[in-house]
Amino acid sequence: MRVTHIKLDAFMVKIARTHKVEAGCDDCAKLSARLIDALMAGPVEERELLDILHHLLMCVPCAQEFQMLDDCARMDAEDSWPSLDEMWRKIEQGK
Ligand SMILES: [Zn+2]
Repeated sequence: MRVTHIKLDAFMVKIARTHKVEAGCDDCAKLSARLIDALMAGPVEERELLDILHHLLMCVPCAQEFQMLDDCARMDAEDSWPSLDEMWRKIEQGK
C-alpha cells in the first residue's frame, strides 16, 4: 500500500508539472476559435493548437464550452441553424 501511495504522489506531481508547460484554460479560451477553424480546414499540426486539443481532453469545462463553439461553427458553415423553437428546446434540455 505504501509503495502505491508514493507512486501516486509522484504521478500527481508529474501531472502538475506537465500542466504548467501545457495550455491552460486561458489559452484554451483564447485559441479555441482558431482551433475550430483549423480543425475544419484539416488535420491540426500547429504545436500551440495541439496543446489546446490536449487540454480539451483533460479539462471537462473547457471541453463542454468547446463543443458548443464547435456546434455553432458547424451550423454556421453548413448554414443549418435550427429554428428558434428548436433552439429553445435545446436550451431547455441543457438545464
Ligand atoms: Zn480548461
